Formats: sequence, C-alpha cells, structure tokens
Amino acid sequence: MADVESMFHQVRVPPEDADLLRFLWWPAGDLSQDLVDFRMMLHLFGATSSPSCANFALRKCAEDNKGQFSQEAVDKVLHCFYVDDCLVSVASDEKAVSLYHELVVICAKGGFQLTKWISNRRDVLAAIPEGHRAKDMKMLNMDQDLLPVERVLGVEWCIQSDTFKFKIVVKDRPLTRRGILSTVGSIYDPLGIVSPVVLSAKKILRDLCRRALGCDDVIPQTVAQEWTSWLDTLCHLEKCNIMRVDPEDQLPADDPEVKKAATVNAVQASEEADAVIRMIHHFSSWVHLRKAVAWILRFKTWLSSLCQKRRQQNRALAQSDLDVEQQRCSLEKDMETFKRKMASSCLSVEELEKSELEIIKFSQRKRFPEEFSMLEKGKSVKGHSHIHTLCPLMEDGVLRVGGRLSRSSMPAEAKHPIILAKDLHISTLLLRHVHQKVGHGGRNHMLSKLHERYWISGASTAIRSVLSKCVICRRLNAQPMS
Ligand SMILES: [Zn+2]
Repeated sequence: MADVESMFHQVRVPPEDADLLRFLWWPAGDLSQDLVDFRMMLHLFGATSSPSCANFALRKCAEDNKGQFSQEAVDKVLHCFYVDDCLVSVASDEKAVSLYHELVVICAKGGFQLTKWISNRRDVLAAIPEGHRAKDMKMLNMDQDLLPVERVLGVEWCIQSDTFKFKIVVKDRPLTRRGILSTVGSIYDPLGIVSPVVLSAKKILRDLCRRALGCDDVIPQTVAQEWTSWLDTLCHLEKCNIMRVDPEDQLPADDPEVKKAATVNAVQASEEADAVIRMIHHFSSWVHLRKAVAWILRFKTWLSSLCQKRRQQNRALAQSDLDVEQQRCSLEKDMETFKRKMASSCLSVEELEKSELEIIKFSQRKRFPEEFSMLEKGKSVKGHSHIHTLCPLMEDGVLRVGGRLSRSSMPAEAKHPIILAKDLHISTLLLRHVHQKVGHGGRNHMLSKLHERYWISGASTAIRSVLSKCVICRRLNAQPMS
C-alpha cells in the first residue's frame, strides 16, 4: 500500500483553463496593499475536478510508458489506485518487491512520487528504503516489533494479523435524536460488516421518529435506557477481527463445495451424455462454476499424467534388479509422492481463464451448431440466424462479434466481445456476477461492464430479470414501512 505525495499539486492546469481557478490575495502577503487577482496553475485540494484530473494524468503516464514496464505494473496503475491511494495485493513476496520497484519508477515518469509504503510482509518491508515507508514503519525492528494498525480507505487494518478491525470512540453527545444520529453515523463501516449491530441503534432512531420527537427534544426514559445499554455493548466491536480475503481469487483450494461438486460431476460425466449441461445448471454462481470446471480439467490432466508416470515407472523398474515385491513397494512409494506433489497446489489464474473459455465454447456449440458449421467451412452465417446482424467470427473456437472496429484502439476483447444467448443458464450466472462486480449497480452500469468482454443479445431484458430477483437490491430499494 502506498500514497502519491501531494498528488493534485503534481498536475498542471492548462493556461486556458486557469481562469476557472482565480482567487484574490494581497501581493506578497502585505495586507496594506490592494487585493490582486491570482490564478492557480496547479490543481488544488477541495476542487471537485481535482481527483478526476489527477487520476487522468496518472493513467496517461502509465499508458504512455507501457512499453518500458511489465503489463502487470501498468495494470496496477490503471486499476489499483483510489485517487492517491495505491492498494495492491499479490500472491508472493518476490512479486510484491518487483512491483514496488516498477511502480515507483512508472509513477516517477509522470512526476508522481509514491511514499508511505506499507506491507503486511516483513520481507517486502525490508526491501523498501526506510525513507519510503509509512511513519510507523520507519523505526521498526523487523525481527521483534509487532506491525502497527493503519487506516486503509478509512477502515482500520491490523497489519500484524492481516485483519480489519473497528476502532470505537464514543463521544459525549446529548440524549436527543441529533446526538444519537451523530453517534450512529460515526461508525464507519463501508462493507456493512457490522450492520447487524448498527441495526439495533437504527431501530431506536426509527422509534423516535415515529414518536414525532424534535431533533433536540429530550428522549423518553425507556428509550434512553435502551440506548445506553446498546452504547455499553459497542466496545465489544473492538474485539472483532475480519480476515482479509478476496472472495473470488483466494478461496481456499480445498473449498468443500467446489471440490465435492467437481468430483461428483466428473463421475457423472462419463455416465450421462448431457451431464455437462446438468452440471452447469447445478451451479448458481459463476465463480463456483468456473472453479469446478477448472478442477475437472485439472483432474483430467492428472489422470493422464498419472497413467503416463505409472507406465514410465513400470518400464524403469522392469530393467532394475529388484524382486517383484520390492518393485511393487518402490512403485507405490513413488506414485504416492507424485500424487501428493500434484494435489498440493491451488488453482492458477490461467487455469480459471481456460475453464471460462471451455464453458463458453461448450455452451456456444450447443446453442449455435449451425453457425459453427458455416463458419468452420469458411462461409458467413445465414440470414435467418439470430446472430446474423452481429457478423460473427470464430477465433480459437469461440464465437465473437465481428464488425469494423478492428483498427480502433479499444482493448481486443471489447472490439470483438464473446457472443452468448440470453436464455443460457451461464448468461444468467454471468449477469449476476457482473451485477455483484459493479456493486449492485443499475442496468446501464451492468451493460457497459458486460460489453467489455461479452455480448448477450437482448441483455436488457435479461438484466431486468436479474435485478428484480436480487435480494440485496430489493432490500436497498424498498420503501420504508408506513
Ligand atoms: Zn443487486
């Protein structure tokens, strides 16, 4: 985690726009003289436009210099900054150190200096010069001292235990609606982790509203008692530790739901012709489906490499001078070691991406068999096809939208998104996934995110159905009870 030093002040305002940032001041601070008109030549703190302009400059700097750095470092600048806060999570210490070096240089190219570095890994911290570390990290004895608690986008992060915590400071406020509202509002919980606790206090507020009490009226004795007992329990929140885990990419490899389903479905697949369709329908989450298929694909590779290994071992042992029993023992021991080695690793990003493409290829072939056969013959799809207007093309066995955007500078996936039909189960799963990714955003937000990679004809109708069934959206959009 790092911070861009005085980010807004690193970005100049074009002279023709500087008139928007005029202000009056005394020349050289001499109050006896007449006020003079000044213009800010840099973006200033407090202007609504500054975060957006400064971010644009940072992204432009990454894009302009992308040839000199790894794609990952460029992607981190494009996607892992929240205004001046850089929040990056990677799988290994080595990767973190190499990213640290790249990010410092790539940002420096645009005049941005990354400071206040923090990491929950001591080896990574040790690789960062003391002057670049956050204040509490500077004088740290790496072998003995505990890592401190820092604030990350307003949330308390205990670096030592890598957990999120809550710091509760209850100020003395009057026993009125205004006082209670102020205390409840001071609990900062953007992720909604402690909503069940806050709910009790909100119910007290609702109760006071129903009694039609004014903002500064003294509240009744019974409600006051209820409120104080809630306040007394609030300090327990400080003992609450929330593990920091990315729900999509870092679920444990032995996730029981996924592993069990993968094994069961692998057995079914050999017995039933439409087992794959049944398996797809078995899942209600795109992330879990993707993982299950990735496990099945790995299981398939395991089986074939196990057979191959066994054959090799058999050949090698047959040429040795061990007796039959010794050969058997040696073979079993070798195979056990081999199996353990293969079973211990987690799924990789490449495996997940491959599994996603396999699911899509399978679903597209089932849904558009005629289109596939035409394209495989090198012909274009027939006029009566539902996807004729999309001028589909086939790339590595995947149907994509054709069109005239091949020369544009858009990302390749957005130029030729993957075609899916709205009545497929995976389209529903995908839309639900997109809906969660955009933070339960509305239809247009979902469509723009979806079109970065996929094209579902009639997506608007499908999205409406997903939105109407989303429990969280229904709860958030519900009218208060009268
Ligand atoms: Zn929703």
